[in-house]
Amino acid sequence: MAPSPLELCDLCGSTFPAEETARCWVPDSSAVRAGREWFDGLRLLTACGADHLTELRDRYRRRPFVQEELWAAKIDQVLSTGAATTTLEQLACRTGLHLPEIRRAVAWRNNRHRHVAEDS
Ligand SMILES: [Zn+2]
Repeated sequence: MAPSPLELCDLCGSTFPAEETARCWVPDSSAVRAGREWFDGLRLLTACGADHLTELRDRYRRRPFVQEELWAAKIDQVLSTGAATTTLEQLACRTGLHLPEIRRAVAWRNNRHRHVAEDS
């Protein structure tokens, strides 16, 4: 019999058989995945048991959901995959975002980089 595939706990990093996996979806504005746009803003948590799943969920519940962060992540994903995107209109088309949303995402990103630079 082939060994069952192992899963990795997002909290403690331990490995365990896939059939013992505890999973749930949480809102996460940094989560985007190519080809799975309908899951944008959702992250699938994987844990070794109910205790660690609860702790992971609490962490994400405290994490603010920032719409601009989600848009910025979509833009990054489009820019790093597939054909070159040279105009804002192309970017809007490929991300499914409106131009004002792209501008807000870029402004949010610039603002955040400034804060990170000041902190260090
Ligand atoms: Zn664990």
